[in-house]
Amino acid sequence: MTVIEVSGLTKTFGKSKKALNNVSLEIRRGEMVALIGASGSGKSTLIRLIAGLIEGDKKSGPCCIDVLGKSVQKDGRISAGAREVRADIGVIFQQFNLVERLSVMSNVLVGVLGRIPRWRGYLGLFSRSEKQRAMAALERVGIAAAVRQRASTLSGGQQQRVAIARALATDPRFLLADEPTGNLDSEMAKGVLTLLEEINQQGTTI
Ligand code: ADP
Ligand code: MG
Repeated sequence: MTVIEVSGLTKTFGKSKKALNNVSLEIRRGEMVALIGASGSGKSTLIRLIAGLIEGDKKSGPCCIDVLGKSVQKDGRISAGAREVRADIGVIFQQFNLVERLSVMSNVLVGVLGRIPRWRGYLGLFSRSEKQRAMAALERVGIAAAVRQRASTLSGGQQQRVAIARALATDPRFLLADEPTGNLDSEMAKGVLTLLEEINQQGTTI
């Protein structure tokens, strides 16, 4: 089964800054694929396009991005069902993007917010099963012991594990990771890569 299918994708910023030029790629279920390129070569742009966060060019010829057989965008327009597709995608970033003053647990629960009514999230009224799901994700990334600690007190490697747990808590069909080890020293980077490999071996496409 094809998880991500991109064809004829071009993205121009402003009048002439071409970040992507007629890109096509296919990623199949269970794969762990690394995209390597110089800084500024368009890796982050491609990830944002696949996640349906930005639109490709409209007039560059036929183009589409499909995820799990559903359209995310076509000819530079975000598809009607893109929101639904986004719920199946977990994203992690180089900068972790945790809320530093919140506990590890709260940060992971934030990942569940996309799935529950807004007002409940704001009031902090998470159900027992949501908390159990968050705890299971923290166990999976090997950081359950730090559940009550503030995110700001963790090392970089630990923070990235929390960010991975936050992504996993929504039970995504695949993970998009944008330079997930870019802010880590080599020892911590190895640990995070090993963790991602384990998650991949358990069935998540990365
Ligand atoms: P990478 O992640 O491979 O380092 P990016 O996807 O971040 O590359 O950037 C690709 C190119 O697009 C770069 O030249 C960058 O300056 C440009 N770019 C990215 N985002 C924007 C933006 N919002 N506005 C203008 N130019 C951008
Ligand atoms: Mg980048």
